[in-house]
Amino acid sequence: MVVVKFGGTSVGAVPQIDQAARIVQSMRDSKPVVVVSAMGGITDALLQAGEAAFTGQTQQRDDKLWEIRSRHDRTINELFKNRDTVHELQDTHRGIWEEVQKVFTGVSLLREMSSRSRDLISSFGERLIVPIFARYLRELGLEAEPVDAREIIVTSEDSEFLLVDFDETRKRCQKLSKMVKTGIVPVVTGFICSTPAGVTTTLGRGGSDYSASIIGSSIKADEIQIWTDVNGVMTADPRIVPDARVLDRVSYKEAAEMSYFGAKVLHPQTIMPAVDENIPLRIKNTFAPEMAGTLISVETPVHQYGVKTVTSITGMTLVSVEGRGMIGVPGVAGRVFTATARNRISVLMFSQGSSEQHISLVVNRHDGDATVKALRREFDQEIGRRRIDRITSISDIAIIALVGEGIKGAPGVAARAFGVLGSANINILMIAQGSSELNLSIVARQKDAPRAVQLIHEAFELNK
Ligand code: ADP
Ligand code: ASP
Ligand code: MG
Repeated sequence: MVVVKFGGTSVGAVPQIDQAARIVQSMRDSKPVVVVSAMGGITDALLQAGEAAFTGQTQQRDDKLWEIRSRHDRTINELFKNRDTVHELQDTHRGIWEEVQKVFTGVSLLREMSSRSRDLISSFGERLIVPIFARYLRELGLEAEPVDAREIIVTSEDSEFLLVDFDETRKRCQKLSKMVKTGIVPVVTGFICSTPAGVTTTLGRGGSDYSASIIGSSIKADEIQIWTDVNGVMTADPRIVPDARVLDRVSYKEAAEMSYFGAKVLHPQTIMPAVDENIPLRIKNTFAPEMAGTLISVETPVHQYGVKTVTSITGMTLVSVEGRGMIGVPGVAGRVFTATARNRISVLMFSQGSSEQHISLVVNRHDGDATVKALRREFDQEIGRRRIDRITSISDIAIIALVGEGIKGAPGVAARAFGVLGSANINILMIAQGSSELNLSIVARQKDAPRAVQLIHEAFELNK
């Protein structure tokens, strides 16, 4: 069995849906299980309609919903010539639209938007496209059937700190293996899942990649394929570095690290389930299926200078704890971590000067104020006694990460990176090297990030 996942652009309109479906058709002998994301832009549009409902802008809400509905209606009408098929799909959709109406009216009336409501609102995109895609595969002669992932991917109740229950999910995914055995091609909604009580949850933005790997590991697939709009994993984000190059092979560790530090091509959690079952992941271009794509597995060749890719993640806040009196205060770093963990703040980077006079951490922008507050509370006594002078934050921060298994043992990586940023007058606010020595992370102002990525790409000759 092979899991075949198509992203939003790969099902964005009729020609793309046709192309994606033909790829599935060409793979019928490999026993595909298909995972599909919402049509490109639909999840955003749903969330915008939700925001409009929440803020009482009913006209904007209805305009957005109409836009979403007509895009799907148009797709159905263009894709299927047979009127009965069109009616059959419209019937299927009718139930979903009724639910859409109820949910958005509820948000408008209550003027309340919980993370549960947000999850339910954003679930409709995948639920609308899957019946269309499955029906189109049938047109091409495949025994395809839609599957709502809320029946098979089970998560914890807590939508803020979502955890997948892999044992339960594995049991429920047997349904997919059984379908495949009888010659059926399951077409599963990406992104969405549910709690044991049946409450709709999601895997976070871009989460359909993760759906594919959860399903792949649960059914012990031979391969997990992520079909998208680029030729594979590249040496940098092609929107920032136009001459970024496609990599033939990347290791699991490298892929995990680069997605964690902002490479949108893979959702950060995608790698873990694949590693657990040692299933190779392949990134392919829906619009150039003849290209080899990128293979992600255990092994990987090392690029010269050790660095293989450079990524960046923006929208971060840098929080600093400073004070000469901190020397000798026991367990400061530990208390920083305890305080952030207690407040459910995830720390992306942490560094402590050897003099213990300065601790810095990078968190998401939306956690910035809460981090400063939590630390001020934690160190209240030390601040009172002047052992800690100040706890401050800087927003609009970016992390630029150089990733490659070869960084370990390659001398001069940091020197080369700092040199090129220094000559361009780009100020480095913090640095950290992961203990795995797989990455070197540099914190800078967000406005400098694109230029920094371009300069590092060039300095390490990543385009060659
Ligand atoms: P999909 O909708 O198929 O999931 P995404 O937009 O989520 O597609 O991810 C693919 C996009 O990721 C590409 O179009 C590209 O612009 C972006 N991207 C960012 N960094 C990288 C990288 N290092 N390699 C490849 N693509 C990248
Ligand atoms: N449709 C979802 C999103 O836009 C999931 C995905 O695309 O992977 O975030
Ligand atoms: Mg994606």
